[in-house]
Amino acid sequence: MSIKAATYRGNKTFTVDNKSIAPPSAGEVQIDVAYCGICGTDLHIYLGHMDPRVGFERTIGHEMSGVIAAIGDNVEGLEVGQHIVVRPLDHCGDCPACDAGHEHICHNLKFIGIDTEGAFQQKWNVAAHTIHVLPDDLDLSHAALIEPLAVACHDVDRGKVSQGEDVLVIGGGPIGMLIALVARHAGGNVTISEINENRLAYAEKLGFKTLNPKNVDVAKSIQEQTGGKGADVVFEVSGTQPGVDLMTEAASVRGRIVMVAIHASKPQIDMFRFFWRELELIGARVYLKSDYEQAMKLLSEGVLDCDSFITDIKSLDEIQGAFEALTSNPNAMKSMIKIKQDA
Ligand SMILES: [Zn+2]
Ligand SMILES: [Zn+2]
Repeated sequence: MSIKAATYRGNKTFTVDNKSIAPPSAGEVQIDVAYCGICGTDLHIYLGHMDPRVGFERTIGHEMSGVIAAIGDNVEGLEVGQHIVVRPLDHCGDCPACDAGHEHICHNLKFIGIDTEGAFQQKWNVAAHTIHVLPDDLDLSHAALIEPLAVACHDVDRGKVSQGEDVLVIGGGPIGMLIALVARHAGGNVTISEINENRLAYAEKLGFKTLNPKNVDVAKSIQEQTGGKGADVVFEVSGTQPGVDLMTEAASVRGRIVMVAIHASKPQIDMFRFFWRELELIGARVYLKSDYEQAMKLLSEGVLDCDSFITDIKSLDEIQGAFEALTSNPNAMKSMIKIKQDA
């Protein structure tokens, strides 16, 4: 069968070509992809930061939603026509992490849509174990936000945010904003630190307290807001040295700091502060099955105002322009590609 697929070719270029796709193999299902959002990681790929890993023949994309179009042999419990999302992780099942039940951080983890073919194509064959079935009444454009929302669910779970705790989110981009929403839903009293005024305005519209480090001393403001205590949980989502400086300064005694950002170079960390205040630094990477289930639940409860979060929706033919626009628009939250015309 011939389908349309967007392929990353290096040098900030995607081509949209026709290619043939085989029927799903045993253990696989074939998806009619409805929507696929553009992730921060996809932007890194587009900018060439991941060329050695991705190559120049890959269809990327993983923040998707779709409809089951065909089912391979030996697949139980799924039906053609079901609305689904894919949890894009492929673990080896035979390493210390997998043995310990931490398949999501398998030593040999393959991220589907980065290390293998992804969802910026009309039809996509994926392993059946990656599928989460959606309620039929969930809008498929909204459902494409489940993957980034699951990231936020995992981060908040790692930070063990509980009722009444003071939370600081450093960085108000898409993931920071989703963390803030999930942390507030968990009972946290959330402040967002961000330098972009448009993002600050959006955060305020969502009802968050905001601080701009360009105008105020954020650590000092947090101390003042909390009667000198500091934030019980800090999420470092900025990926910057000032963010790393702030995370230790703003944390309370025994504060938990969740490292969400992927720091490309090794930042300087104030280790003295870890001793002085008995701080904890917690790693967080992707998500578990339970985080996906939680994200689906939060979405159907309306925790996220999807329509305001989705900045724009373009067609697969316009994917090049969508990536170009995203790199030049620091205000954007989520850009999405609509792949199935009747979705
Ligand atoms: Zn993503
Ligand atoms: Zn493994």
